[in-house]
Amino acid sequence: MKRVSHLRAQPRVVVIGAGAFGGWTALDLRRRGAHVTLIDAWGPGHARASSGGETRIIRATYGARAVYTAMALRALEQWRAHDPERRLLYETGVLWMFGGDDSFGHTSAEVLNEHGARLDQISLADASRRYPQIDFADVRSVFFEPEAGYLLARRACESVVSELVTEGGEYRLCAASAPVDAEAVRRGQLRLGDGTIIEADVFVFACGPWLPSIFPDMIGPHITATRQEVYYFGAPAGDARFSEPELPVWMDFAAGSRSGQIYGIPASGSSGFKVADDAQGPRIDPTSGERTVSPDGVARARAFLALRFPALANAPLVAAEVCQYESTPDDHFIVDRHPAAPNVWIVGGGSGHGYKMGPAVGEMMASLVLDDAAPNPQFSLSRLGATPVGGWQQRWS
Ligand SMILES: Cc1cc2nc3c(=O)[nH]c(=O)nc-3n(C[C@H](O)[C@H](O)[C@H](O)COP(=O)(O)OP(=O)(O)OC[C@H]3O[C@@H](n4cnc5c(N)ncnc54)[C@H](O)[C@@H]3O)c2cc1C
Repeated sequence: MKRVSHLRAQPRVVVIGAGAFGGWTALDLRRRGAHVTLIDAWGPGHARASSGGETRIIRATYGARAVYTAMALRALEQWRAHDPERRLLYETGVLWMFGGDDSFGHTSAEVLNEHGARLDQISLADASRRYPQIDFADVRSVFFEPEAGYLLARRACESVVSELVTEGGEYRLCAASAPVDAEAVRRGQLRLGDGTIIEADVFVFACGPWLPSIFPDMIGPHITATRQEVYYFGAPAGDARFSEPELPVWMDFAAGSRSGQIYGIPASGSSGFKVADDAQGPRIDPTSGERTVSPDGVARARAFLALRFPALANAPLVAAEVCQYESTPDDHFIVDRHPAAPNVWIVGGGSGHGYKMGPAVGEMMASLVLDDAAPNPQFSLSRLGATPVGGWQQRWS
């Protein structure tokens, strides 16, 4: 495969998509000297983006999937540097609760240890003393991850784009027409929705759940967008038990959701107490899907609150969001070169856990684009069997 090996010293790069992956990719490329234009159809962290909404968890606990532990720890360092005043990053720690099988906790603790970080098992008695607002009745073991917490999602996307512009990059609100003509972008030309053309040496498509519509044949079968409901409940007036610092982020494998995992984030600032089920919902079209939550989902969340946070059993629902996971079959990201267009990169497949990784993904992408580094095979298109359709790639190969 012929590759782009002689990029000019300061290549022109267009990044399509200003979510967690695209925003950080644009910023890192700019910091490394590229001429960067970032475009987005609706804006950084908008209400339909996977990076939209109030908050996202940052944690490095990943079981045996050490590649993500390493990335998350690197990303945490980068978030700290990006947000020295801690307006976006809240290091509350994460409390992990298990019902029976806690091998995920023990394996994660070993992997974190190997990476110089911690996941501490704490006794149930200690956990009950520290968090009297939690009913641990059906919980069998508890771990605490101190270097973890949550990020303000939409606001952090906005801050990354604002930093890009401050540092000399360009941001434009406009849409790449979909599907993309891959042969035209290989020649350096991307057609926009208004019919104009934007030219660049390199294109990075970071279009989250829209990647299937950008590359329908190649990516379409390999990323599924599912509807995920998120609920915010209101704590009683003046009751600090459900806000940080009295409560950390929590992950519950004991309560028996369909996925086995319900998670939440303490109330902070203007947002309520967040509860969500990690089970994948039905498919959603990210552009046209309705964003109202279902009565069933709210009822399940309330039943969970009655079990785990009894004082919130009758708390009012004060806000809700419908977002989407854009999942690959193995839940691994996609970070790879287009197999038939060496100047085109694809980054996505965040699969419900990508937000926190934004800075680490951006750094990786900048190195791939500017240093001609080799992509990690774990994130390859080929592991999914994703290949371009049509004859022109043979002419290029
Ligand atoms: C409910 C929920 C909870 C989650 N919880 C966590 C969590 O706790 N921790 C965590 O780390 N991750 C979490 N995730 C996953 C994480 O949010 C995603 O993996 C991540 O935000 C994906 O970012 P992205 O940049 O790939 O996609 P997006 O944020 O969707 O960005 C893609 C951008 O591309 C733009 N775009 C698309 N098509 C075009 C076009 N043709 N032209 C121009 N622009 C275009 C879109 O407008 C969009 O802004 C969660 C996701 C959801 C839905």
